[in-house]
Amino acid sequence: MIYYENLFNSNKKFFDEFRIKFNQVLNSGWFILGNELKNFENEFAAKHNVRHCVGVASGLDALTISLLASGIPEKSEVIVPSNTYIATILSILHAKMNPVLVEPNISTYNIDPKRIEEKISPKTKAIMIVHLYGKSCEMDPIVEICRKYNLVLIEDCAQSHGAKYKGKLTGTFGNFGAFSFYPTKNLGALGDAGSVITNDDNFAEKIKKIRNYGSSKKYYNEVVGYNSRLDELQAALLSVKLKYLDEINDHKRKLAQIYLDHLKSDFIKPVVDENYFDVYHIFNIRHPKRDQLKDYLLANGIQTEIHYPVPPHKQKAMDGILSGEYPISEEIHNTTLSLPCSFGHTEEEIYRVVEVMNKF
Ligand SMILES: *Cc1c(COP(=O)(O)O)cnc(C)c1O
Repeated sequence: MIYYENLFNSNKKFFDEFRIKFNQVLNSGWFILGNELKNFENEFAAKHNVRHCVGVASGLDALTISLLASGIPEKSEVIVPSNTYIATILSILHAKMNPVLVEPNISTYNIDPKRIEEKISPKTKAIMIVHLYGKSCEMDPIVEICRKYNLVLIEDCAQSHGAKYKGKLTGTFGNFGAFSFYPTKNLGALGDAGSVITNDDNFAEKIKKIRNYGSSKKYYNEVVGYNSRLDELQAALLSVKLKYLDEINDHKRKLAQIYLDHLKSDFIKPVVDENYFDVYHIFNIRHPKRDQLKDYLLANGIQTEIHYPVPPHKQKAMDGILSGEYPISEEIHNTTLSLPCSFGHTEEEIYRVVEVMNKF
Protein backbone atom coordinates (compact mmCIF):
# COMPACT_ATOMS: atom_id res chain seq x y z
CA MET A 1 0.00 0.00 0.00
CA ILE A 2 1.21 3.49 -0.80
CA TYR A 3 -0.19 5.53 2.09
CA TYR A 4 -1.32 9.09 1.59
CA GLU A 5 0.86 10.08 4.53
CA ASN A 6 2.83 7.97 6.98
CA LEU A 7 4.15 10.11 9.82
CA PHE A 8 6.62 7.42 10.92
CA ASN A 9 8.30 7.55 7.51
CA SER A 10 8.15 11.35 7.32
CA ASN A 11 9.87 11.71 10.71
CA LYS A 12 12.30 8.78 10.90
CA LYS A 13 15.19 10.81 9.51
CA PHE A 14 14.98 12.99 12.64
CA PHE A 15 14.55 10.29 15.29
CA ASP A 16 18.15 10.40 16.60
CA GLU A 17 18.10 14.18 16.97
CA PHE A 18 14.60 14.03 18.49
CA ARG A 19 15.81 11.57 21.15
CA ILE A 20 18.70 13.85 22.13
CA LYS A 21 16.32 16.83 22.40
CA PHE A 22 13.76 14.80 24.33
CA ASN A 23 16.40 13.86 26.89
CA GLN A 24 17.57 17.47 27.14
CA VAL A 25 14.06 18.73 27.84
CA LEU A 26 13.39 15.87 30.26
CA ASN A 27 16.59 16.59 32.16
CA SER A 28 15.97 20.34 32.20
CA GLY A 29 12.85 19.94 34.35
CA TRP A 30 11.31 22.95 32.55
CA PHE A 31 8.34 22.32 30.25
CA ILE A 32 6.43 25.55 29.56
CA LEU A 33 7.70 28.99 28.42
CA GLY A 34 11.41 28.35 28.62
CA ASN A 35 14.59 28.46 26.56
CA GLU A 36 13.56 25.89 23.97
CA LEU A 37 10.56 28.03 23.03
CA LYS A 38 12.67 31.20 22.97
CA ASN A 39 15.21 29.49 20.73
CA PHE A 40 12.61 28.21 18.31
CA GLU A 41 10.86 31.60 18.20
CA ASN A 42 14.17 33.31 17.42
CA GLU A 43 15.03 30.77 14.73
CA PHE A 44 11.62 30.93 13.08
CA ALA A 45 11.65 34.75 13.12
CA ALA A 46 15.18 34.76 11.65
CA LYS A 47 14.15 32.32 8.95
CA HIS A 48 11.49 34.85 7.90
CA ASN A 49 13.64 37.90 8.51
CA VAL A 50 10.99 39.38 10.83
CA ARG A 51 11.29 40.89 14.31
CA HIS A 52 9.03 38.51 16.21
CA CYS A 53 7.71 34.99 16.37
CA VAL A 54 5.36 34.01 19.20
CA GLY A 55 4.63 30.33 19.74
CA VAL A 56 1.05 29.30 20.48
CA ALA A 57 -0.81 26.03 20.92
CA SER A 58 -2.20 25.54 17.39
CA GLY A 59 -2.80 27.08 14.00
CA LEU A 60 -6.37 27.88 14.95
CA ASP A 61 -5.14 29.79 18.00
CA ALA A 62 -2.50 31.59 15.90
CA LEU A 63 -5.31 32.94 13.68
CA THR A 64 -7.74 33.74 16.52
CA ILE A 65 -5.10 35.45 18.67
CA SER A 66 -3.87 37.49 15.68
CA LEU A 67 -7.39 38.85 15.24
CA LEU A 68 -7.70 39.59 18.97
CA ALA A 69 -4.30 41.30 19.09
CA SER A 70 -5.05 43.40 16.01
CA GLY A 71 -7.32 45.64 18.08
CA ILE A 72 -10.14 45.63 15.55
CA PRO A 73 -13.53 45.65 17.26
CA GLU A 74 -15.97 42.78 17.69
CA LYS A 75 -18.55 42.44 14.92
CA SER A 76 -16.06 43.70 12.33
CA GLU A 77 -16.24 42.02 8.95
CA VAL A 78 -13.26 39.92 7.93
CA ILE A 79 -12.77 38.95 4.28
CA VAL A 80 -11.80 35.29 3.94
CA PRO A 81 -11.67 32.77 1.07
CA SER A 82 -14.72 30.52 0.64
CA ASN A 83 -12.33 27.73 -0.34
CA THR A 84 -10.42 26.92 2.83
CA TYR A 85 -10.19 24.60 5.78
CA ILE A 86 -12.85 25.36 8.40
CA ALA A 87 -10.24 26.57 10.96
CA THR A 88 -9.76 29.83 9.08
CA ILE A 89 -13.46 30.65 9.38
CA LEU A 90 -13.68 29.40 12.98
CA SER A 91 -10.93 31.80 14.09
CA ILE A 92 -13.04 34.73 12.91
CA LEU A 93 -16.09 33.43 14.77
CA HIS A 94 -14.07 32.78 17.95
CA ALA A 95 -12.85 36.39 17.78
CA LYS A 96 -16.54 37.44 17.62
CA MET A 97 -16.18 38.87 14.13
CA ASN A 98 -18.11 38.15 10.93
CA PRO A 99 -16.59 36.17 8.06
CA VAL A 100 -17.33 37.49 4.55
CA LEU A 101 -16.54 34.86 1.95
CA VAL A 102 -14.79 35.54 -1.35
CA GLU A 103 -14.58 32.96 -4.13
CA PRO A 104 -11.24 31.56 -5.31
CA ASN A 105 -9.55 31.69 -8.68
CA ILE A 106 -10.37 28.35 -10.33
CA SER A 107 -6.80 27.77 -11.48
CA THR A 108 -4.85 28.69 -8.31
CA TYR A 109 -7.58 27.69 -5.79
CA ASN A 110 -6.62 30.78 -3.77
CA ILE A 111 -8.74 33.86 -3.05
CA ASP A 112 -9.44 35.80 -6.26
CA PRO A 113 -8.16 39.37 -5.68
CA LYS A 114 -10.57 40.65 -8.35
CA ARG A 115 -13.54 39.60 -6.23
CA ILE A 116 -12.40 41.21 -2.97
CA GLU A 117 -13.35 44.86 -3.43
CA GLU A 118 -17.03 44.12 -4.14
CA LYS A 119 -17.23 42.51 -0.66
CA ILE A 120 -15.69 45.43 1.23
CA SER A 121 -18.12 47.43 3.38
CA PRO A 122 -17.64 50.13 6.03
CA LYS A 123 -17.52 47.29 8.58
CA THR A 124 -14.64 45.51 6.86
CA LYS A 125 -11.53 45.73 9.03
CA ALA A 126 -9.34 42.84 7.93
CA ILE A 127 -8.50 40.36 5.20
CA MET A 128 -7.50 36.86 6.25
CA ILE A 129 -5.98 35.08 3.28
CA VAL A 130 -4.99 31.42 3.01
CA HIS A 131 -2.01 30.19 0.98
CA LEU A 132 -3.78 26.95 0.18
CA TYR A 133 -1.99 23.68 -0.69
CA GLY A 134 1.41 25.43 -0.33
CA LYS A 135 0.94 28.06 -3.05
CA SER A 136 1.12 31.73 -2.16
CA CYS A 137 -1.88 33.94 -2.91
CA GLU A 138 -1.44 36.65 -5.54
CA MET A 139 0.03 39.18 -3.13
CA ASP A 140 0.54 42.40 -5.15
CA PRO A 141 -3.17 43.23 -5.58
CA ILE A 142 -4.04 41.98 -2.07
CA VAL A 143 -1.43 44.17 -0.39
CA GLU A 144 -2.64 47.08 -2.53
CA ILE A 145 -6.29 46.58 -1.47
CA CYS A 146 -5.26 46.44 2.22
CA ARG A 147 -3.39 49.72 1.80
CA LYS A 148 -6.22 51.39 -0.09
CA TYR A 149 -8.90 50.48 2.49
CA ASN A 150 -6.61 50.48 5.54
CA LEU A 151 -7.27 46.82 6.36
CA VAL A 152 -5.32 44.53 8.66
CA LEU A 153 -3.79 41.64 6.69
CA ILE A 154 -3.55 38.22 8.33
CA GLU A 155 -1.97 35.36 6.39
CA ASP A 156 -3.02 31.79 7.16
CA CYS A 157 0.29 30.03 6.47
CA ALA A 158 -0.76 26.65 7.89
CA GLN A 159 -0.04 25.07 4.48
CA SER A 160 2.71 27.34 3.19
CA HIS A 161 5.88 27.08 5.33
CA GLY A 162 8.64 28.23 2.99
CA ALA A 163 6.39 29.13 0.04
CA LYS A 164 7.26 32.38 -1.74
CA TYR A 165 5.71 35.01 -3.99
CA LYS A 166 8.18 36.97 -6.10
CA GLY A 167 10.96 35.69 -3.85
CA LYS A 168 9.32 36.79 -0.58
CA LEU A 169 8.20 34.25 2.04
CA THR A 170 4.51 33.85 2.87
CA GLY A 171 3.75 35.21 6.30
CA THR A 172 5.89 38.31 5.72
CA PHE A 173 3.43 40.34 3.62
CA GLY A 174 0.80 40.98 6.27
CA ASN A 175 0.58 42.38 9.78
CA PHE A 176 0.43 38.78 11.03
CA GLY A 177 1.62 35.46 9.60
CA ALA A 178 -0.17 32.59 11.36
CA PHE A 179 1.37 29.11 11.22
CA SER A 180 0.24 25.65 12.25
CA PHE A 181 2.76 22.94 13.11
CA TYR A 182 0.18 20.16 13.14
CA PRO A 183 2.07 16.89 12.46
CA THR A 184 1.18 16.63 8.76
CA LYS A 185 2.16 20.21 7.84
CA ASN A 186 5.40 20.86 5.96
CA LEU A 187 6.94 21.85 9.29
CA GLY A 188 5.15 19.46 11.64
CA ALA A 189 5.59 18.87 15.38
CA LEU A 190 4.80 15.60 17.17
CA GLY A 191 1.61 17.10 18.53
CA ASP A 192 -0.27 20.38 18.27
CA ALA A 193 1.60 23.65 17.90
CA GLY A 194 1.44 26.98 16.08
CA SER A 195 3.00 30.42 15.94
CA VAL A 196 2.46 33.98 14.78
CA ILE A 197 5.14 36.07 13.10
CA THR A 198 4.97 39.86 13.00
CA ASN A 199 7.20 42.90 12.61
CA ASP A 200 5.10 44.92 15.04
CA ASP A 201 6.49 45.11 18.62
CA ASN A 202 3.11 46.04 20.06
CA PHE A 203 1.27 43.16 18.35
CA ALA A 204 3.96 40.71 19.51
CA GLU A 205 3.59 41.85 23.14
CA LYS A 206 -0.19 41.50 22.94
CA ILE A 207 0.02 37.98 21.49
CA LYS A 208 2.44 36.98 24.27
CA LYS A 209 -0.02 38.22 26.87
CA ILE A 210 -3.10 36.67 25.28
CA ARG A 211 -1.45 33.23 24.98
CA ASN A 212 -0.58 33.25 28.68
CA TYR A 213 -3.75 34.15 30.63
CA GLY A 214 -3.43 37.82 29.74
CA SER A 215 -0.33 38.08 31.85
CA SER A 216 3.20 39.28 31.22
CA LYS A 217 4.13 39.19 34.92
CA LYS A 218 3.17 36.00 36.74
CA TYR A 219 -0.16 36.29 38.63
CA TYR A 220 -0.85 39.79 37.27
CA ASN A 221 -3.51 39.59 34.54
CA GLU A 222 -3.98 42.61 32.32
CA VAL A 223 -6.31 41.28 29.63
CA VAL A 224 -8.77 38.38 29.34
CA GLY A 225 -6.39 35.80 27.94
CA TYR A 226 -6.17 32.16 26.99
CA ASN A 227 -3.92 29.26 27.76
CA SER A 228 -2.34 28.77 24.34
CA ARG A 229 1.35 28.10 24.74
CA LEU A 230 3.74 26.15 22.54
CA ASP A 231 5.39 23.77 25.03
CA GLU A 232 9.13 23.24 25.44
CA LEU A 233 9.17 19.71 24.06
CA GLN A 234 7.35 20.59 20.81
CA ALA A 235 9.48 23.73 20.44
CA ALA A 236 12.66 21.68 20.82
CA LEU A 237 11.50 19.14 18.23
CA LEU A 238 10.47 21.94 15.86
CA SER A 239 13.97 23.46 16.15
CA VAL A 240 15.38 20.14 14.95
CA LYS A 241 13.01 20.03 11.98
CA LEU A 242 13.29 23.71 11.05
CA LYS A 243 16.89 23.06 9.95
CA TYR A 244 15.49 20.60 7.42
CA LEU A 245 12.48 22.61 6.23
CA ASP A 246 14.12 23.52 2.92
CA GLU A 247 15.11 19.88 2.41
CA ILE A 248 11.55 18.75 3.20
CA ASN A 249 10.14 21.29 0.74
CA ASP A 250 12.70 20.38 -1.94
CA HIS A 251 11.74 16.74 -1.62
CA LYS A 252 8.04 17.53 -1.97
CA ARG A 253 8.78 19.77 -4.95
CA LYS A 254 10.78 16.99 -6.59
CA LEU A 255 7.87 14.55 -6.16
CA ALA A 256 5.42 17.18 -7.44
CA GLN A 257 7.58 17.67 -10.52
CA ILE A 258 7.24 13.96 -11.34
CA TYR A 259 3.45 14.34 -11.31
CA LEU A 260 3.62 17.57 -13.31
CA ASP A 261 5.88 16.02 -15.95
CA HIS A 262 4.25 12.62 -16.29
CA LEU A 263 0.55 12.66 -15.40
CA LYS A 264 -1.58 12.62 -18.53
CA SER A 265 -3.54 15.73 -19.39
CA ASP A 266 -6.93 14.22 -18.42
CA PHE A 267 -6.06 15.40 -14.93
CA ILE A 268 -6.15 19.10 -14.20
CA LYS A 269 -2.79 19.73 -12.53
CA PRO A 270 -1.72 22.63 -10.30
CA VAL A 271 -0.61 25.70 -12.24
CA VAL A 272 3.07 26.57 -12.23
CA ASP A 273 4.18 30.18 -12.52
CA GLU A 274 7.68 31.61 -12.20
CA ASN A 275 6.51 34.21 -9.65
CA TYR A 276 5.48 31.47 -7.25
CA PHE A 277 7.67 29.10 -5.24
CA ASP A 278 5.21 26.34 -4.30
CA VAL A 279 5.87 23.92 -1.45
CA TYR A 280 3.06 21.45 -2.21
CA HIS A 281 1.74 20.92 1.29
CA ILE A 282 -0.92 19.18 -0.78
CA PHE A 283 -0.44 18.04 -4.38
CA ASN A 284 -3.93 17.96 -5.84
CA ILE A 285 -5.37 17.22 -9.24
CA ARG A 286 -8.94 17.70 -10.41
CA HIS A 287 -11.03 15.26 -12.39
CA PRO A 288 -14.80 15.11 -13.10
CA LYS A 289 -14.91 11.44 -12.00
CA ARG A 290 -13.00 12.11 -8.81
CA ASP A 291 -14.83 9.58 -6.60
CA GLN A 292 -14.39 6.78 -9.15
CA LEU A 293 -10.72 7.69 -9.51
CA LYS A 294 -10.24 7.58 -5.74
CA ASP A 295 -11.83 4.10 -5.53
CA TYR A 296 -9.78 2.88 -8.49
CA LEU A 297 -6.54 4.07 -6.91
CA LEU A 298 -7.40 2.45 -3.58
CA ALA A 299 -8.19 -0.84 -5.34
CA ASN A 300 -4.67 -0.57 -6.78
CA GLY A 301 -3.06 0.02 -3.39
CA ILE A 302 -2.85 3.81 -3.50
CA GLN A 303 -4.39 5.88 -0.75
CA THR A 304 -5.51 9.44 -1.50
CA GLU A 305 -7.36 12.19 0.37
CA ILE A 306 -9.87 14.90 -0.45
CA HIS A 307 -9.10 18.43 0.70
CA TYR A 308 -11.88 19.07 1.33
CA PRO A 309 -15.05 17.04 0.76
CA VAL A 310 -17.43 19.71 2.13
CA PRO A 311 -16.84 23.46 1.71
CA PRO A 312 -17.21 25.62 4.85
CA HIS A 313 -20.52 27.20 3.73
CA LYS A 314 -22.07 23.70 3.45
CA GLN A 315 -20.94 22.53 6.89
CA LYS A 316 -23.68 21.84 9.42
CA ALA A 317 -21.83 24.00 11.97
CA MET A 318 -22.23 26.98 9.65
CA ASP A 319 -26.05 26.76 9.36
CA GLY A 320 -27.38 30.26 9.87
CA ILE A 321 -23.84 31.70 9.96
CA LEU A 322 -22.62 31.49 6.36
CA SER A 323 -24.96 32.14 3.48
CA GLY A 324 -24.67 32.72 -0.26
CA GLU A 325 -23.68 30.74 -3.31
CA TYR A 326 -20.08 29.72 -3.94
CA PRO A 327 -20.12 27.66 -7.15
CA ILE A 328 -16.36 27.86 -7.78
CA SER A 329 -15.60 26.52 -4.31
CA GLU A 330 -18.14 23.76 -4.81
CA GLU A 331 -16.64 22.84 -8.18
CA ILE A 332 -13.21 22.50 -6.53
CA HIS A 333 -14.57 20.50 -3.60
CA ASN A 334 -16.41 18.14 -6.00
CA THR A 335 -13.45 17.43 -8.27
CA THR A 336 -10.27 17.71 -6.22
CA LEU A 337 -8.12 14.75 -5.18
CA SER A 338 -4.89 14.92 -3.15
CA LEU A 339 -2.13 12.51 -4.17
CA PRO A 340 0.68 11.08 -2.02
CA CYS A 341 3.47 13.71 -1.89
CA SER A 342 5.15 13.69 1.52
CA PHE A 343 8.72 13.76 2.83
CA GLY A 344 8.31 10.05 3.58
CA HIS A 345 7.52 9.09 -0.03
CA THR A 346 10.13 7.89 -2.52
CA GLU A 347 10.35 8.84 -6.19
CA GLU A 348 9.64 5.18 -7.08
CA GLU A 349 6.34 5.36 -5.22
CA ILE A 350 5.32 8.49 -7.09
CA TYR A 351 6.22 6.91 -10.46
CA ARG A 352 4.00 3.98 -9.44
CA VAL A 353 1.10 6.36 -8.68
CA VAL A 354 1.62 8.01 -12.08
CA GLU A 355 1.62 4.66 -13.87
CA VAL A 356 -1.65 3.58 -12.23
CA MET A 357 -3.28 6.98 -12.73
CA ASN A 358 -2.42 7.16 -16.39
CA LYS A 359 -4.34 3.89 -16.95
CA PHE A 360 -7.55 5.40 -15.53
C1 LIG B 1 -4.21 22.99 9.49
C2 LIG B 1 -4.85 24.27 9.15
C3 LIG B 1 -5.27 25.18 10.14
C4 LIG B 1 -5.35 24.84 11.59
O1 LIG B 1 -4.21 24.41 12.20
P1 LIG B 1 -4.30 23.60 13.58
O2 LIG B 1 -2.89 23.59 14.06
O3 LIG B 1 -4.82 22.24 13.27
O4 LIG B 1 -5.21 24.34 14.49
C5 LIG B 1 -5.73 26.41 9.74
N1 LIG B 1 -5.81 26.75 8.45
C6 LIG B 1 -5.44 25.91 7.47
C7 LIG B 1 -5.54 26.35 6.05
C8 LIG B 1 -4.97 24.63 7.79
O5 LIG B 1 -4.63 23.79 6.81
